[in-house]
Amino acid sequence: MLTYKNVRLIHALLSTTVLIVYLIYGHVQWLYVAMGLALLYLCTLLYGVFTVKAAFFLTLFNEGSPRDKLIALTFDDGPSQNTHQVMDILKQYNIKATFFLIGSKVKENQEVVQRLVAEGHQLGNHTYHHSKATGFYPVAKLTEELESTRSVVKQLTGLNMKLYRPPFGVTTPNLAKVVSQLRLNVIGWSVRSFDTTAQPAEGIIQRVLRQVKPGAVVLLHDDREKCAVLLETIIPHLLNQRYTFATVGELFEIEAYEND
Ligand SMILES: [Zn+2]
Repeated sequence: MLTYKNVRLIHALLSTTVLIVYLIYGHVQWLYVAMGLALLYLCTLLYGVFTVKAAFFLTLFNEGSPRDKLIALTFDDGPSQNTHQVMDILKQYNIKATFFLIGSKVKENQEVVQRLVAEGHQLGNHTYHHSKATGFYPVAKLTEELESTRSVVKQLTGLNMKLYRPPFGVTTPNLAKVVSQLRLNVIGWSVRSFDTTAQPAEGIIQRVLRQVKPGAVVLLHDDREKCAVLLETIIPHLLNQRYTFATVGELFEIEAYEND
């Protein structure tokens, strides 16, 4: 399996072997082989950092079991006032979803978070500031990002969140350390809507419907105005195909909150 641990081990073994061969025979081409191996290692690390589905550095929940026709709608980058429209549509179809919250937005949208909880949706952590550099923060700063969001949501709702979604899906060895220390469940996705792009709604809807299959985790953004428009088509279509909607906790049968 392509994981950080395996790749690091294989790279160390191959590089050591090549260097020993070079030291024995002294042929310069073995140095080129060593350089090629180093480049390949670097490319593999970059692939792991930017590919959430690879689950390269840590365990991620990207897709549920296909045995039931369950799927999870997940929403990032709220809470915002647009979240109300999203909740209105979900309520209309009696669907519970999972919302990954940005801590710095909670204070101005407290009633949104309270409504999410009251209507049975699940809450997850999406860092405090949602910086593009989050994935490359040192351990202490990353811990602070996650703890401060957890704390602000706990103060408001009493819920101690265990679900975490990394911004932009970027994962690193530092993140692996932090989620292990904080005992978080890291949630990826299997269907990326690209609803933050300027693409018209129709194209986004077709992309989502084309990719959805049993066990899918769909990534959407409730801070965008078009989110409600997308749901108005996506939800009836998937219900017609006899899908059942679940929270992330239900789909993966994992705890969403710490009992303390
Ligand atoms: Zn985000």
